[in-house]
Amino acid sequence: MFPALGPSDQRAPIRPDSPVELIPGIGPRRAEALKARGITTALDCLFHLPIRYEDWREPCAYRELRPGMTATVAGTLRQSSERPMVRAGRGRRMVTGWLLAGAERMGVVWFNLPPYLVRLLPFGRAVLVHGRISAAADGSLQIVNPAFHLAGASPAPALRSMYGLPAPIGQRLFSELVRKLLRDMDGVFAGAIPHTLRRAARLPELLDALRYLHVPPASANLSELCEGRTEAHRVLALDELFTFELAMQLDRRRAAAKPGFAFAGPHPLSAALLAELPFALTDAQHRVIREIDADLTSGSPMNRLLVGDVGSGKTVVALWAALRAVESGRQAAIMAPTELLAEQHYRAFQRYGAGLGVPNALLTGGASGAERVECLRGLARERISLVFGTHALIQRSVAMPGLGLAVVDEQHRFGVFDRARLKALGPNAHMLLMTATPIPRSLALVLFANLDVSFLDQMPPARAPVTTRIVAENRFEAVEALVRRKVSEGGRAYFVLPAIGEEGEPAAEEEQRRTVAAMVQTLSRGALGNLQIGVLHGRMAGARREDVMRNFRDGKLDVLVATTMVEVGIDVPEASVMVIVDAQRYGLAQLHQLRGRVGRGALEADCVLVAPEDIDPKSRARLAVLLDSSDGAEIARADLALRGPGDLLGSRQSGALPLRFARFVHEVEFIAQARALAEQLLAGPSKLKGPEAAGARQALKRMLRYGFGLADVG
Ligand code: ADP
Ligand code: MG
Repeated sequence: MFPALGPSDQRAPIRPDSPVELIPGIGPRRAEALKARGITTALDCLFHLPIRYEDWREPCAYRELRPGMTATVAGTLRQSSERPMVRAGRGRRMVTGWLLAGAERMGVVWFNLPPYLVRLLPFGRAVLVHGRISAAADGSLQIVNPAFHLAGASPAPALRSMYGLPAPIGQRLFSELVRKLLRDMDGVFAGAIPHTLRRAARLPELLDALRYLHVPPASANLSELCEGRTEAHRVLALDELFTFELAMQLDRRRAAAKPGFAFAGPHPLSAALLAELPFALTDAQHRVIREIDADLTSGSPMNRLLVGDVGSGKTVVALWAALRAVESGRQAAIMAPTELLAEQHYRAFQRYGAGLGVPNALLTGGASGAERVECLRGLARERISLVFGTHALIQRSVAMPGLGLAVVDEQHRFGVFDRARLKALGPNAHMLLMTATPIPRSLALVLFANLDVSFLDQMPPARAPVTTRIVAENRFEAVEALVRRKVSEGGRAYFVLPAIGEEGEPAAEEEQRRTVAAMVQTLSRGALGNLQIGVLHGRMAGARREDVMRNFRDGKLDVLVATTMVEVGIDVPEASVMVIVDAQRYGLAQLHQLRGRVGRGALEADCVLVAPEDIDPKSRARLAVLLDSSDGAEIARADLALRGPGDLLGSRQSGALPLRFARFVHEVEFIAQARALAEQLLAGPSKLKGPEAAGARQALKRMLRYGFGLADVG
């Protein structure tokens, strides 16, 4: 019934990195299918964990069976009918029968069986069957398409691993393949954490952990297995995080070994900037500035990440750092992901630093030919000391021979290569990355272990407070009334929707007010019909998006209906209402960032979380965190507690890390353990050299192949 797996000793032995097509039983067609799933090597097969387990340990009593359950049942099989399934074609059959045990019985039905499998059904014999229980048309119970095991034939299975597999790979084929690989890898593969460290930390062997998860013993706890909470899961995650932390620390060491500029001279410009500001810096801003100053004077290149909530005042810090470069005779560049943001930085500098006499420029894709040429020449000849810009800064035509400091704002919006290209403009330049992604300190320190991290964890004195509330969908008129009132008071409103929808088409019933297109229709027909309504979403060209955003900033639009595009740090002081539709779909951190778009001026602001009236209590409790708190750090901690670090580590927000087992991380302390182990290895006499660290070296290589660029920063 299934192809036998031939003895492997007739071929080259299978190694962890052997391609799947070398595994006996895997021909070209199956190999292709596996590769399409990202399973390319023998080790990938072992790392492809079961998605669920069938529990064959305890046959269920007939009277305890209920529709909807998945159960194992013991009895003797008797056939009642067999008929062709015409529409299924290719001779497929439907077979029905009974499972009998004493006076009790239950229906059994198999659909779509090919004839050769029909012949294999063990009618007349004592069996264990396992499958889903459902109610037949007459209300009696039946088990549908069950797997079976002959009683007494071989020891009954305990827990059967079930995998997510592409069509040409059957469950049994893959299980057998994995069992065989587990034997082949014995003594060949031991994971990344060296033996002595592993023993000292009393960690089980990685291969034993894999064996436990693929072939669980009868004593295993099913719910722990299914939830990824066994010790074996932790061992896998720890080995992977160890490798990740190792990569980060190696990166950090390599960067620290490079020479950098020491900005040791006097501070005329940066001090004048602070003196010119119309406000006093917060204590946090002072502290962060001291941290950055220590880097800038150290003689090693700075690689620092500044984490600060929306509105915490990162821009002044960036301007201050840039002026430290300029007063030290160097050039500085501040890069932002959109033209509007670059413009905003440029304007902030004109506002606070105009009197300093620093030649500065704005370089974006929108610059005209002549302006561009002029700017490029100024940069190349070091006549321009400070430049603000977008991706235009990292085009090949740009040269800044005196670059001493580069700032990347909203750094998560840039790719690894963008940052590397900026760095290439001045290989020894200091780097300051900035992000408003709320990330708990504990997690940031391990995630960005290759960087120094500063936290801007204090907001400037409150301007307008933001009132947050949850409003049920069917009370949408109240939202419209609020927006109308706010606009009449001189404010502007954002509506954020989870999808774009089709413009010009009447919205389907279930889409009402759930897409940008449908919301625009609703608003322009309803109470807001006389307002200027603009649209912003990711299907629009970048230039058009920026135009719309500019119009909103300048007051030509009252209402902006958008997708989460609107998230990036644009400062529109008049924006005073943020309406988020289907708010329960977003993470807390993202909601908090959206809310940060309003309340940036003198107007009192509102944030309205629109959610279905029948929202489940858990989602509601989650949203309620936002009603009680406006502190990004606190919200990030709540997010962490609700979702667990595994989820955050695996999410796009943290920049899609090459971690496949991070979802099994349930405590932050655990990440710290991985970090400590990596530090121990690098503190040892032979570091990454020598046979002890062979597994670590290979794991690093694999992680790089799996999609992680160490060229990131530094
Ligand atoms: P973000 O950290 O989100 O980039 P910004 O740098 O844009 O925040 O600052 C938000 C607003 O707060 C700006 O208008 C800025 O001028 C103002 N601001 C920054 N620091 C302070 C401060 N210490 N006191 C008062 N206002 C400040
Ligand atoms: Mg900003």
